[in-house]
Amino acid sequence: MELYKENQLKVYNSLSKSKELFKPVIEGRVGMYVCGPTVYSNAHLGNVRTFMFFDVVYRYMLHLGYKVRYVRNITDAGHLENDADEGEDRIAKKARLEEIEPMEVVQRYTVDFHDVLKNYNFLPPSIEPTATGHIVEQIEMIKEIMDKGFAYEVNGSVYFDVLKYNKTGNYGILSGRKIEDAIHNTRTLDGQSDKRNPQDFALWKKADERHIMRWPSPWSDGFPGWHLECSVMSKKYLGEQFDIHGGGMDLKFPHHECEIAQSQTCSGKAPVNYWMHTNMLLLNSQKMAKSTGNYILPNEILTGENDVLSKAFMPSVVRFFNLQANYRSILDFSSDALEASEKGHGKLMDAVNYLDKIEAGSESTFNVQDWKKECYAAMNDDFNTPILISHLFEAVKIINLIREQKASLTEEDLLELKKTMNAFVFDVLGLMNEVTQGSSDKVNGVVELLIKLRKEARENKDWALSDQIRDELLELGIQLKDGREGTSFSIN
Ligand code: AMP
Ligand code: ZN
Repeated sequence: MELYKENQLKVYNSLSKSKELFKPVIEGRVGMYVCGPTVYSNAHLGNVRTFMFFDVVYRYMLHLGYKVRYVRNITDAGHLENDADEGEDRIAKKARLEEIEPMEVVQRYTVDFHDVLKNYNFLPPSIEPTATGHIVEQIEMIKEIMDKGFAYEVNGSVYFDVLKYNKTGNYGILSGRKIEDAIHNTRTLDGQSDKRNPQDFALWKKADERHIMRWPSPWSDGFPGWHLECSVMSKKYLGEQFDIHGGGMDLKFPHHECEIAQSQTCSGKAPVNYWMHTNMLLLNSQKMAKSTGNYILPNEILTGENDVLSKAFMPSVVRFFNLQANYRSILDFSSDALEASEKGHGKLMDAVNYLDKIEAGSESTFNVQDWKKECYAAMNDDFNTPILISHLFEAVKIINLIREQKASLTEEDLLELKKTMNAFVFDVLGLMNEVTQGSSDKVNGVVELLIKLRKEARENKDWALSDQIRDELLELGIQLKDGREGTSFSIN
């Protein structure tokens, strides 16, 4: 039986501001959309916090036996410098400053993003669609919104009519914003006089001559508004009504509020059943953000090359650090906090590594079944990873007592403990066993050294030594392969 049938998962829904029982649109399946990065620069550790949490949501849903379609987009056009439709396109600006093509910017930072995800042990989403790959669908959605009378064209640009939408009673449904506040708080920006009302937002923007990222449309050569791509791509891959939509808190308004307005106008239905928002990662008590320069890059963690850091840390320690906090709370980053996480992570992994060495006893001094239930209860309570981790440490305590022969488990309980620990530590939280990871790095280093010595032996025509190195490595299961680019190896 699938685990989801016996687990009552509750999800905090930002729409209702309460925990609700999770009931997917289609039984046994989950459709989840998470707003992805705008690839105009490197993702920072704050972005990683948000994506990491949704990676754990994805992992837990898979663990429960759901068939999950997880869509996380790449924003490669349309995101302007200012969220109020102002300024240059972020990617086009970077391209102009660096004198390269916008698509070179996109490629560079998409590759960087994927490297980070790989280093930090993320599962790839089911679909990773791009805004530029869905221009046709975006134009179609604009036409649909115009046909319904909720958008208007001025001088080649198309705007969503927020005042009219407000009359449907749905404006501010997610963010709690009132239209009156929006009117008072929205400045009329340069070049925004086209809008009938300052709180309207762009669905299509006419490109000026300098704007190189442009596509033909019925209204002008231009580009889509930032909010549109997510409405279009979520509908295309998950349908008009799907289960979970996620992102950081800072996206609630205007981005997600505008997404709801667009999708709801087209389909007449609320597009998302559960809206989930992560809280911010702070550095020096301020939100970590690219725009203010107050950030750390995930790769700097691995090398320790940032003045904020006392040393380098393993990616799994950062995972542990993030998941020790509830995703709806702010989290303060500091090198000291990472060092504390490193200790905790070390203790956890030490116990997990010892599991295979434990021998079963004739009786159990620990109730594994109750403990297992509590682990699931923590995750079923809106993915409460800090509580789950505290339960994992109860198991660590027992494992250490068994080590000192002060506790014991029967064969059956021992198996259950191992299975549950491995499932939560590796499959659900996505932590990595740094002991083996660290030692495999060392093995790789030693093999590289032997390859270098063998090369020198061959240059000295010392064939006997060269063959000895190759053969003895082979006996250890390490095969050297000589090729045009040099010698590579594989470990069996
Ligand atoms: P962006 O590329 O700026 O659109 O951001 C990608 C994701 O990271 C969004 O879901 C943001 O809400 C999220 N995010 C940005 N800054 C932080 C932060 N300091 N802490 C947590 N999440 C963040
Ligand atoms: Zn989005």
